[in-house]
Amino acid sequence: MNKTVQGLFEFIEKSPSQFHVVANERARFLEAGFEELSEAKEWKLELGKNYFVTRNGSSILAFRMPQQAYKSFMIMASHSDSPSFRIKEMPEMKEGHYVKLNTEKYGGMLMAPWFDRPLSIAGRAIVKTENGIETKLVDLDKDLCMLPSVAIHMNREANDGFKYNAQKDMLPLISMDEDFCLKKLVAATLDITADDIVGSDLFLYNREPGKVWGAADEFISIRRLDDLQCSYSSMMGLINANNSENAVQIHVTFDNEEVGSGTKQGADSTFLYDTLVRINEAMGGNNSTLLTAIANSFMVSADNAHAIHPNNPEKSDPTNKVFMNEGIVIKFNANQKYMTDGLSFGIFTEICNAAHVPYQTFVNRSDMAGGSTLGNISNAHVSINGVDIGLAQLAMHSPYETAGTKDTEYLLKVATKFYESVLENVSGCDYIIK
Ligand code: ZN
Repeated sequence: MNKTVQGLFEFIEKSPSQFHVVANERARFLEAGFEELSEAKEWKLELGKNYFVTRNGSSILAFRMPQQAYKSFMIMASHSDSPSFRIKEMPEMKEGHYVKLNTEKYGGMLMAPWFDRPLSIAGRAIVKTENGIETKLVDLDKDLCMLPSVAIHMNREANDGFKYNAQKDMLPLISMDEDFCLKKLVAATLDITADDIVGSDLFLYNREPGKVWGAADEFISIRRLDDLQCSYSSMMGLINANNSENAVQIHVTFDNEEVGSGTKQGADSTFLYDTLVRINEAMGGNNSTLLTAIANSFMVSADNAHAIHPNNPEKSDPTNKVFMNEGIVIKFNANQKYMTDGLSFGIFTEICNAAHVPYQTFVNRSDMAGGSTLGNISNAHVSINGVDIGLAQLAMHSPYETAGTKDTEYLLKVATKFYESVLENVSGCDYIIK
């Protein structure tokens, strides 16, 4: 297995929920010498140093200060969450001798692939302390529950298209002990009592480990490639990058992209803008300094893209055919669901060329509505020139997704080159790219 894929798999396997994603990125940044800041405290920043800040334990923003006076921001954004099922409050449901869990959909997933495979539960618990509360990560980390299919003999139409009812069909079987209590199980793994737990955000996840496969090991499959493949590459790109002369290099992983980003820690929050303001203030800048820097800035919204499907090629655009292992996918949409336009495409492809990384273009079929993502949502709070990109994958929003073996390395290289680049908006739409 190549080292980048191995690193990606280790990161994803330790990250069964968005809270774990942020905890693992936090640990990685601490290890790389980044200093942790708190939004609830004053910031003192120094040129040439590295920092990070988290919000809600599920979004993280890390940045490296330039060597000299800052003049712009080079931002790469991705997301920490993936579609799953949130465990409802009071989840235990008895069905004869069975105990199953009451769940609710988080995001828009493919439902069929959640069946007939061992699932587990991860997230966070809010725990009482002597004088308040604290948050603890929870990963039950065992083959714990399952959504068994209805046998073909009991549903002869199963192969003719099945309509899943989330309140009936998506409730995993977990026990045959009528006294089973999930809160007690969570408390036991944390070495506390159930009464100590005052709140929780728990989700199902697929236990299947990552695999490299194909005749020549062309493919990788693992949960949450959307969007941890981008988040991991962006994080490692920042860690690997050299200090810029004048640009603040920013890696941000937002939570809640899969449910519309409209939370205090999502891309539709002030998290990014608040951080830019605080960096500017810490550098002694005024409002005009900040606006000038924003005009010289660039944002890469990195969220995975659809590869052409081997059995359903007609679902893809007839001329913009995206393949795994063929590099960065740059996304266009005439209605501006993606940030990319001719100008930002030109700037970003210059950076890809400088990094010697291939790229390809994605556009939805004109008779098909596509998804949306972070870039244009974030742009409503702080308007920055930028592109939407991703890595090509199949089975998006399945609990076991497939991508190309080579592509993580491509994005890592481009991310490093991007962070080290400096843009100068000389006039109108004319730029110097260094
Ligand atoms: Zn995504």
